[in-house]
Amino acid sequence: MQALKNDVEIKGAFKQFGSNVVLNGIDLEVKQGELLTLLGPSGCGKSTTLNLIAGFLEADEGDVYIKGKKVTKVPPYKRDLGMVFQTYSLFPHMTVRENLDFGLKLRKVEKSEKDKRITRILELVRMSGLEDRYPRELSGGQRQRVAIARALVVEPKLLLLDEPLSNLDAKLRHELGAEIKRLQKEIGVTTIFVTHDQEEALSLSDRIVVMNQGRIEQVSNPTTIYDHPSSEFVFRFIGKSN
Ligand code: ADP
Ligand code: MG
Repeated sequence: MQALKNDVEIKGAFKQFGSNVVLNGIDLEVKQGELLTLLGPSGCGKSTTLNLIAGFLEADEGDVYIKGKKVTKVPPYKRDLGMVFQTYSLFPHMTVRENLDFGLKLRKVEKSEKDKRITRILELVRMSGLEDRYPRELSGGQRQRVAIARALVVEPKLLLLDEPLSNLDAKLRHELGAEIKRLQKEIGVTTIFVTHDQEEALSLSDRIVVMNQGRIEQVSNPTTIYDHPSSEFVFRFIGKSN
C-alpha cells in the first residue's frame, strides 16, 4: 500500500534571532487533507514554524518542501497558500466582495469564474448577503469568516491559520472553530492550525504537534496526546492533572 502523501515537510529546521534559539531542530510532516495543529505555550516557536512554511522567514539550517518540492528559495506569493492571522487581515477600505476579489484578480481568474467562486465560498462560511459590507460593519467573528473565505477563494494548496480564534470571545471561538473544521473537511484543503489553547487543539485536530521551546515534544492524534502524553511537559500542558 502506498503511504499517504505529505503536502508539507520540514527537515532539520534551526532558527535563531540573535542569541535566542527559536527553532532547535524541527522535523515535521503534514499529510494531504489533514488538519494539523501546532500547539504549545506562547513563544515556543509556532508562528516561526508557520512563517517558514509560508516563506516569510528562512531557516538558518534545514529545508521546507511543499508537495515534494523544495521551496526554500521560493517567495511567499509563489507558494500557493492561504493564510489567516489572529488580528483581522482584511483590507479596511474594501467591501467583503472586493476583499475576496483581490487575490482572484491578481491570479487573472475570469469574471464568471470569480463570481461563481465568491458566491460559493460566502455560502460555505455562511456570509451570503453581506458582500457589500465594509470590515468595520462586521463583527469580529464575521471578519474572521471573511478572512478565511479570502484565504480559500483562490483555492490554495495549503491553508495556514495562526491563532485565528484568539481575539474572539469564548462562544464565538467555539462556533467558528467548529465551522473551520467543517469547512476544512468539506473542501479537503490541507491545513496547519496554530493555537496555544489545548481544548481548541483537542477538539479540532486530526493530529497535534506539541511544541516546547523550539522543539517538538510529541506528534499524535488528540486521543493519544490526551491519554498517553509522552513527556512530563505534554502531560502538564494538556492539563490532565488539573
Ligand atoms: P509562538 O508563535 O509560539 O508564540 P513565535 O514563533 O512567535 O512563538 O516566537 C518564538 C520566539 O522567537 C519568541 O521568543 C519571540 O520573541 C522570538 N521571535 C519571533 N519573531 C522574532 C523576530 N522577528 N525577531 C526576534 N525575535 C523573534
Ligand atoms: Mg504566534
